[in-house]
Amino acid sequence: MKKLVAGNWKMNGGLASNRALLDALGPVSGVNVLVCVPYPYLAQAQQRDPAIALGAQDVCEYAAGAYTGEVSAAMLREFGCSYAIVGHSERRALFGEDDSMVGRKASAALAAGVTPIVCVGETLAERDAGRVMDVIGAQLAAVLDALGPEAMGRIVLAYEPVWAIGTGRSATAEQAGDAHGAIRAWLQRHGVDGRAVPILYGGSVKPQNAAELFATADVDGGLIGGASLVAEDFVAICRAAA
Ligand code: PEP
Repeated sequence: MKKLVAGNWKMNGGLASNRALLDALGPVSGVNVLVCVPYPYLAQAQQRDPAIALGAQDVCEYAAGAYTGEVSAAMLREFGCSYAIVGHSERRALFGEDDSMVGRKASAALAAGVTPIVCVGETLAERDAGRVMDVIGAQLAAVLDALGPEAMGRIVLAYEPVWAIGTGRSATAEQAGDAHGAIRAWLQRHGVDGRAVPILYGGSVKPQNAAELFATADVDGGLIGGASLVAEDFVAICRAAA
């Protein structure tokens, strides 16, 4: 299976800097490349290289109606999004998204033909307390409850240890491999075909550590924050996954 490398631009960019970044990306053979841009720039990114898939960073759990400020999965689809990040730790921590809301958002995305990239991962305190799979298991269970085992096989997961996001401190390849293997085993135990679900690693991936992380068993690609804003770094990370 080709690896998937997804850039999460977060709330960064502008028309001019996006243009320069998108122009510098170009397709990388042997890897699926995706950029998740802020909502207002979807139209701009949609007009760029069709070899680069387009995604959003969030989606509303509802299909339509009086939800001021929200964006539906069908709207994302109209602007060429094939993916939406769901349950990023920043949304969980800063915007109060809980596990069950993340499940509902994943369900809304799938219903509109948008593949949710569901983020799971533990804080440092939870890791230190030996609770990594308790936390991730609860996060996964809420999504499984919302989707059921068949649809659960149609999502993408991203293991993003919270302590590694934007900190410069990546998980080691061993830590990532252990978590990914445990997630895959969890899926199998819960009636989901775990082999069908790509599991991305996210958390301070850089050109320097990408190849080792991507060579690790059960790591099917990456979700890249800071480094996705620097074209040469993002392209180097994509190449490391090819
Ligand atoms: C992220 O926000 O999903 C992320 C992985 O960020 P960074 O690569 O900057 O750690």
